Amino acid sequence: METPAHIVVHYHELWLKLGNRHFFLHQLRRAMQRALEGIRVARITQPGDRYLIELEDTAETELAIRRLQQVFGISHIAVARRVDWSHRKSEDILPRLFETAWEEIRTEKFATFAVRAKRSDKRFPHTGMFLEREIGGMLFDKLEAEGRHPKVDLDHPDLTCRIEVTRGPVLIYARRIAGPGGLPTSTAGRLTCLLSGGFDSAVAAYKMMKRGAHMSFVHFWGGGAEPGENSMYVARRLVEKLTPWQSTAHLYLVPFEPLQRQIVARADESLRTLLYRRLMLRIAERIALREKSKGLVTGDSLGQVASQTLQNLQSVGSIARLPIYRPLAGDDKLEIQGLAAKIGTYEISSERFHDCCAIFQPKSPALFATSEELDQAEGQYDAQSLVEEGLRGVSLERFRYRQGSVERSMAKRRPTVDHLSKG
Ligand code: ATP
Ligand code: MG
Repeated sequence: METPAHIVVHYHELWLKLGNRHFFLHQLRRAMQRALEGIRVARITQPGDRYLIELEDTAETELAIRRLQQVFGISHIAVARRVDWSHRKSEDILPRLFETAWEEIRTEKFATFAVRAKRSDKRFPHTGMFLEREIGGMLFDKLEAEGRHPKVDLDHPDLTCRIEVTRGPVLIYARRIAGPGGLPTSTAGRLTCLLSGGFDSAVAAYKMMKRGAHMSFVHFWGGGAEPGENSMYVARRLVEKLTPWQSTAHLYLVPFEPLQRQIVARADESLRTLLYRRLMLRIAERIALREKSKGLVTGDSLGQVASQTLQNLQSVGSIARLPIYRPLAGDDKLEIQGLAAKIGTYEISSERFHDCCAIFQPKSPALFATSEELDQAEGQYDAQSLVEEGLRGVSLERFRYRQGSVERSMAKRRPTVDHLSKG
């Protein structure tokens, strides 16, 4: 027979202060529902400041947890044991609560512990404080009797056993599973990320997604038709990896080599990389407007390469009308790679791929180019017509997360990117 499972989902209290509590909670609930697609969920309720997910079958608990760990806004998750009660029955419920609490903690390792109880249903005969004292005392005695000598620590216990009296069952849990934190997906609006295939931009996208932005991606590719020869394959796999966090994603692919060749033919060698970047920004901005994005995201990190001096970031970025977010600006490479490993992009980005920026790379790139110098250089090849040429070659791929896997589909027609931002 199937036994139901109860998963308690805690969210950060912080974002409730934003004022739009209802909207955030609704988005969190939707994100959880989407994440749990294919798993039999009996109901999702909200007994107080947390969600309670009831699964029809405990066998699917682990899978559900794994899926929920990719839902932003969740601070931690617990699998609860359940004790049924009714306010109509007069019963000494304490022995049953104690036995269940004991089952929950007996195999855990800890030196200090505390019992925390919360009574959301005031019909329950005992107060939270009473439960804490009584069950805490009983657990303490039992541990002593087993030859373990725990200490009670109410401030920083190694283990907290929670007893929550809901309007349904009493839930008991002690083992916390960390969630990803952040704000529920798509609560902040949209952004467009320039995704290269390296470590940085995928991590940059993740960081902004974690704050509730829905990300679209633009990748500028070069190279041959085979995986390994073309960075497009790496970008695709990165988007695939990131999609579950926000359930859908668009990836725009722009062939870049023909445009680079024109820059190489006409502009000062030392400025090349900066001019590629400017052109990427111009094209990405047009796509961002199509996507109704409120800004661009790059993986720039201060001082990491020649194009990322403060001076160059300023002169390259000066042509953008949308704000540019650089969430890694103050991060070290090791920190970035650590996060990449955590979110599963490290391996993908470590693969060798054809990096369009590496070809025709200047031997001594300019470290301190001014906006005026770049404007002048761009005047020699008509930057605007390169933007149009790039946009004519763009293709769009759509990603959708369903029942635990990501499907990719190609848009049948080339997306038309209108001329909103031309000028
Ligand atoms: P990354 O590891 O993300 O490639 P990086 O340290 O190698 O970054 P650059 O290659 O100078 O730095 O690129 C800086 C930023 O420009 C990238 O983080 C990314 O946002 C953008 N970018 C670079 N190349 C591409 C590309 N081929 N397609 C899309 N965006 C790109
Ligand atoms: Mg790069």
